[in-house]
Amino acid sequence: MSVLIYAEVSKNKVKKSSLEATNYASNIAKNTNTTVTAVVVGNADNTALAELGKAGANKVLRLTDAKLANHDSQAMTVAIEQVAKAEGASFIIFSHDFTAKAVAPRLAARMRAGYVPAAVGNPIITGDITTVRKNVFSGKATADYIIHTANKVISLLPNTFAVTLADGNAEVSDFAVDLSSVAPRITVKEVKKSEGELLLPDAELVVSAGRGMKGPENWGIIEDLAREFGAATACSRPVSDIGWRPHHEHVGQTGIAIRPNLYIAIGISGAIQHLAGVNGSKTIVVINKDPEAPFFKAADYGIVGDAFEIVPKITAALKAFKAASH
Ligand SMILES: Cc1cc2nc3c(=O)[nH]c(=O)nc-3n(C[C@H](O)[C@H](O)[C@H](O)COP(=O)(O)OP(=O)(O)OC[C@H]3O[C@@H](n4cnc5c(N)ncnc54)[C@H](O)[C@@H]3O)c2cc1C
Repeated sequence: MSVLIYAEVSKNKVKKSSLEATNYASNIAKNTNTTVTAVVVGNADNTALAELGKAGANKVLRLTDAKLANHDSQAMTVAIEQVAKAEGASFIIFSHDFTAKAVAPRLAARMRAGYVPAAVGNPIITGDITTVRKNVFSGKATADYIIHTANKVISLLPNTFAVTLADGNAEVSDFAVDLSSVAPRITVKEVKKSEGELLLPDAELVVSAGRGMKGPENWGIIEDLAREFGAATACSRPVSDIGWRPHHEHVGQTGIAIRPNLYIAIGISGAIQHLAGVNGSKTIVVINKDPEAPFFKAADYGIVGDAFEIVPKITAALKAFKAASH
């Protein structure tokens, strides 16, 4: 018996969201008197994977089958199911990212498991019944979902909990999966990895902009501000749909859900579908020239005015502040 957590490694570092999910799995394991097995795909080295031990994994299984190299979701599903069966795992935990959205429902169907996506609370386990909280109605309410099945698949909304690392050690070994039965119907033609040092789901500070920026040529002032803050950049959906910014920056109901400590929204109206992905942010600052923009209702601080005047002033003030404090 064990709790299985699927962890992702980027640039030979376990993603923060995967460490959160490992903490979450560890909590379930403590409540059910069992252990945590983390499964990773690719050739991450043992030093990088040691972080999973510190986050609560008892063992790490590394899958290096070539069919998994492109993270094909059908192959991933079969592989994770094989690991879950070998480990006798009844809880399978993901971080609620693109992989989870593609793999977790497939896995739940194959394993006849109850599935709760984007959980925001630790599950309450009472005998055969597991209750999992998630946001509903675009984050305006929460609902408690009850899982009755023996197998459970849960994906955890990133940034729900702070990561806790302790002294734990996890033994790392390779696990061979049999993917001979997998004949994917999807061909992966190209993989575009997120650029930049800071991955949006992991960022504590985010500078985000919308259609109010008028065009991609004006993003320089957004990037300057983000650089001064050490923040990641994000955008509203129409901005990525029309190709002003890459898709991996799109936040909201149909994009990434983030919960940074600071979210600065510039020239974004604050439609409910956008708020659904950012309203868990600890502090929200809105810059918009329309005092009636709905985003102000969700803001902790608001500046009514033209972004093209205000943003360079904030960047300059931040530079001056940093220079003065050196
Ligand atoms: C099913 C569905 C799912 C969706 N999912 C998402 C999602 O995941 N994420 C998402 O973002 N949207 C999503 N949308 C779209 C959403 O409804 C809005 O249309 C979108 O968020 C609006 O983007 P925006 O605020 O950038 O643009 P706009 O609504 O055009 O707002 C631009 C804002 O910029 C301000 N502005 C203009 N000029 C300036 C200036 N010089 N200085 C300062 N402010 C200025 C304006 O006052 C305005 O408030 C979804 C819609 C649907 C139907």
